[in-house]
Amino acid sequence: MDEVKEEVKEIIDYLKDPQRFQKLGGRAPKGVLFYGDPGVGKTLLAKAIAGEANVPFISISGSDFVEMFVGVGAARVRDLFETAKKHAPCLVFIDEIDAVGRTRSGVGFGGGHDEREQTLNQLLVELDGFESGEGIIVIAATNRPDILDPALLRPGRFDRQISVPKPDVKGRYEILKVHVKKKKIPLDNDVDLMVIARGTPGFSGADLANIVNEAALLAARKRKDRVGMKEFEEAMDRIMMGLERKGMAITPAEKEKIAYHEVGHAIVSLMFKEADPLHKVSIIPRGMALGVTVNLPEEDRHIYSKKDLMARIHQLFGGRAAEEVFYGKDGITTGAENDLMRATELAYRIVASWGMTEELGPIHVSTARNNPFMPQQGPEISEETARKIDEEVNRLLRDAYAKTKEIIESYKDAITAVVELLLDKETITCDEMVAILEEYGVPVVNKCRKSIVEVVSDSSAPETPAGAIE
Ligand code: ZN
Repeated sequence: MDEVKEEVKEIIDYLKDPQRFQKLGGRAPKGVLFYGDPGVGKTLLAKAIAGEANVPFISISGSDFVEMFVGVGAARVRDLFETAKKHAPCLVFIDEIDAVGRTRSGVGFGGGHDEREQTLNQLLVELDGFESGEGIIVIAATNRPDILDPALLRPGRFDRQISVPKPDVKGRYEILKVHVKKKKIPLDNDVDLMVIARGTPGFSGADLANIVNEAALLAARKRKDRVGMKEFEEAMDRIMMGLERKGMAITPAEKEKIAYHEVGHAIVSLMFKEADPLHKVSIIPRGMALGVTVNLPEEDRHIYSKKDLMARIHQLFGGRAAEEVFYGKDGITTGAENDLMRATELAYRIVASWGMTEELGPIHVSTARNNPFMPQQGPEISEETARKIDEEVNRLLRDAYAKTKEIIESYKDAITAVVELLLDKETITCDEMVAILEEYGVPVVNKCRKSIVEVVSDSSAPETPAGAIE
């Protein structure tokens, strides 16, 4: 997890010597939120940080706070922080923070609910109650960052959020090596851990540990004194079947389609200088997404020109357009739903909220019109205007899609070359992609954006709010 390692380096430096760190002008972190799918190693990572910094590791699970009796959870939170203060510098790890940190609904549901609210309030009080120089770092983990109470994520609390992704092929290889070594498993000469790593996209660290374990058990059952490739393959099949039921296993054909889709997004973002700079492309599934193209804004943006917005729509269409160009009209997939939804919403707002088209002119129609959960605001619009808006939105989307398809069609060979590298490595950086595009003579007009961490450490201003750009 090289990227994550980069991000947590600073935490380790701080825990090793809090005073020195602050003297050097470092902005001490206080609360850090790890989020990622179950089994990716959030707890292990926190433990490793404490180990590396050589400080006590105090851990508790969010579900330990939630008790039947009112007041118990809050008392436990107080105890936890008292213990931490006694042992500072130290690392406090709260697993499953969502058990206490769910959004407060504001509607009482009786005992259990009040209890959770009290516990959460106590947690917020304690987080605010110690200074960032005291040598305590609180790391919380969750696989549901979306349901957390926003109060927890405010500055001075868990204001640094680190995504712990599923490992890429290199990561999986390293993880397999660790488990084989730790369990002292004697391997047959035919075992190639890289082959196993390649065959296990989407597997978490815990899944990989299971494979190693299962393979060892199979070999023992067969009374063999070494574990061979055959056992590993059987183990992979078993684990994979379990995962398939959970809908996580991805077939090679699917993987290829996902790769074309993502590279489609990525190449389009490199063709518009108004698009946010590309950071990386990945086909490692995370959460609900099967692949992801990460673009990072150069700075926080507050207003957007029509050009910026149109670049965004083209970029959103890049995935679907690539599917159509490479797999034909009937080969397009359901994977583009979210892209289409966002593109349509943007187009609607360009026409009707921001009055940016010639056809309709400078008009504003409340977006609430499209949202059944919001009360209608603003003046009623005529059916004629409504029809014109729909037509204009449609025209705008069709034009953008046609242009996106043209881009994809012009650079088919280059895209295929990028897809090959992506299938091989599963995550590629913008620089790697641009290198291939340049080989093929594709005119790249947008620049790459390096990892947030690299940029932050490059800049000499320590007050740069590290991690603020996610
Ligand atoms: Zn997409």
